[in-house]
Amino acid sequence: MSLSREHAADLSPDTVVVAAGRPERSHDQPVNPPIVLSSTYFGTGALSDGDRGYGRYANPTWDPFEEALAQLEGAELPGLLYASGLAAVSSALSLVRAGGVLVMPTHSYAGSLAMATELAAKGNLELRTVDIADTDAVKSQLAPADGKPADMLWIESPTNPMLGIADVRALTAAAHEAGAIVVTDNTFSTPLVQQPLSLGSDVVLHSVTKYLAGHSDVVLGALVTSKPELRAELLHHRIIHGGIAGPFEAWLALRGLRTLALRIERSQASAAVLAERLGTHPRVESIRFPGLPTDPGHERAKSQMKGFGSILCIQLAGDGTRSGADAADQLVRALRLWLPATSLGGVESLIERRRRHTGEPLSVPDNLVRMSVGIENVEDLWADLEQALKALDR
Ligand SMILES: *Cc1c(COP(=O)(O)O)cnc(C)c1O
Repeated sequence: MSLSREHAADLSPDTVVVAAGRPERSHDQPVNPPIVLSSTYFGTGALSDGDRGYGRYANPTWDPFEEALAQLEGAELPGLLYASGLAAVSSALSLVRAGGVLVMPTHSYAGSLAMATELAAKGNLELRTVDIADTDAVKSQLAPADGKPADMLWIESPTNPMLGIADVRALTAAAHEAGAIVVTDNTFSTPLVQQPLSLGSDVVLHSVTKYLAGHSDVVLGALVTSKPELRAELLHHRIIHGGIAGPFEAWLALRGLRTLALRIERSQASAAVLAERLGTHPRVESIRFPGLPTDPGHERAKSQMKGFGSILCIQLAGDGTRSGADAADQLVRALRLWLPATSLGGVESLIERRRRHTGEPLSVPDNLVRMSVGIENVEDLWADLEQALKALDR
């Protein structure tokens, strides 16, 4: 690859997203990596370490993205791409030994929580869920006075969809003291906003589907670690469980990554403007956005994030004629520019009432609407919200 890890470490991440993962600079080589469509590779005799061998073990199309992600997260080893964020979750959870204890946020990504709950129901592991923003509560689950210490701490910060902020430094220190591995799902922040390895995490997880690919046209996941023994175990899991990335998706993700810095800059700025305005709107009962000085996670977010992300959550007020949940549904339907759809992190602004999903935890309020701010003009986004909020008066 033409950008070395040492050189990348001296550059701003805004530059690394553009420069990383390009082919060697030799005369007449393409400036972008090719898509390699091959299920197998020429070879005779025994395979040695680093040989590709077969399409489930390796594909050269993965390498540029895996290297770029490592450089962005400040990792010492290439990342690992997966078929989806959930395939990456599955691989990460395989690090919990049989019967081991997993501590996970109550408000984790619903799919991660569902997978952990199923594994626990089958007796494969013991699941302890906890409010990840409550550092003391997490500590007591990691090393209870009268119970087994944890094998793994799962961190999401900000949480989905409650936008709680975990004290990542304090939690990773406590987890390591208890002998647990720490996995941080960094999907909401991206490495441009938060670098969990530098805060002490052992493994970083991404749903590449979201900000990294950024155009809502790819489903992909990734893991990153600087620990050779963990990476070897994860790679082995990927090979034998087969949750590998398609080459076309990997190529699209790298293409999407090129504009990540610009997209994040714009969407974070717009989210801050919208949060400010929504926070004082009479139809909005409450708002969560770590960028607001009044938000309970604000100080913590400031200490470990560069910016505050571009997801915000509002709870709609009910009135004499309808409940807050009905008002939320009506708001979503009245929008003309915001897209009523799940997911987040794309160029387009997305909005949904979370409890429309039957699997959403009941601890998520039924009038809560999650908004993923895209890169459209912020005044257009606001005008659309304003007209839809006004329509609630009719
Ligand atoms: C979407 C998401 C996932 C799952 O990723 P997929 O690509 O949908 O499989 C995991 N964690 C978070 C925080 C997510 O938003």
